[in-house]
Amino acid sequence: RAKAEGRNRFQFFDRSLDAAARRRNLIEQELRTAVANESLTMNFQPLVDSGDGQVLCVESLLRWNHATLGAISPAEFIPIAEDVGLIEQIGAWVIRQGCMTAAAWPETVRIAVNLSPRQFGGTGLYASIAAALRDSGLPPSRLELEVTESLLLKTDTLVESTLTAIKALGVRIALDDFGTGYSSLSYLRKYRFDKLKIDQSFISDIESNRDSRAIVSAIIALGRDLGISLAAEGVETEGQYKILQTLGCSELQGYLIGRPMPSDELSSFLTSRAAASSVRQRA
Ligand code: C2E
Ligand code: MG
Ligand code: MG
Ligand code: MG
Repeated sequence: RAKAEGRNRFQFFDRSLDAAARRRNLIEQELRTAVANESLTMNFQPLVDSGDGQVLCVESLLRWNHATLGAISPAEFIPIAEDVGLIEQIGAWVIRQGCMTAAAWPETVRIAVNLSPRQFGGTGLYASIAAALRDSGLPPSRLELEVTESLLLKTDTLVESTLTAIKALGVRIALDDFGTGYSSLSYLRKYRFDKLKIDQSFISDIESNRDSRAIVSAIIALGRDLGISLAAEGVETEGQYKILQTLGCSELQGYLIGRPMPSDELSSFLTSRAAASSVRQRA
């Protein structure tokens, strides 16, 4: 009987694995088509100054709206793109598109682009950044690249030399999802980051969880002492906004301030925010 049960469980497991594998294959095939047809798009989400509400930076976030499968999350398709070798091409497109779009924004607004560790495999990344900056005319200081700690886990010297070369262009580097992953503080000594983005998991319960508040407070103090600017992602409530403002977190991002939006909506957002903060300044 135990044997029969075991077999059933195995079959069940096997079937669900099969469904996951089929979904993966489907996504892979459809993603190849989407990349070839250039049907991926980007949304843009603002990061504002916690003091005066001015937009300091805008993060680009990939979107894929499939004709029959509907919206597919980057959290699902980016890992697949990484595994099947599509990420270099997608990543280069995102960098170019981001620089081109940001070149039309006010010069006080930077663009932040997410990078996958897999893009650090060769010399392609540096070349695509340099080309995008040159062709768009965007000043390098207005480009910020978001990397995650998983990149720094690689002991690869290529990672180190690529980061150094990119920084030498004058491009800024931000450490995304800070506090998750391995959070080895030695990374902060090894690399000069321009910004730490505190992960939204710490922000979501900052009002109710004293430990989260203590951790966020410590990260902010650390950033201040190291001369690294601090951003918080996933700000959804006024309460969270107030706490982060009081703790001295300089940049805030989240649904409360603005959701990821298409480029034309972002342009109106930038215009209305600039008007609002100049009214505040006059008052
Ligand atoms: P991330 O870079 O940490 O981006 C933050 C995610 O949180 C985004 O999800 C964003 O839409 C979402 N978010 C922003 N504000 C809030 C909020 O107030 N509440 C909540 N609950 N969520 C919020 P999204 O767009 O689904 O992207 C997921 C992840 O996919 C990103 O995490 C990033 O790691 C990756 N990704 C997105 N675009 C790209 C890209 O162009 N290249 C690479 N390599 N990865 C990308
Ligand atoms: Mg990010
Ligand atoms: Mg993030
Ligand atoms: Mg995150």
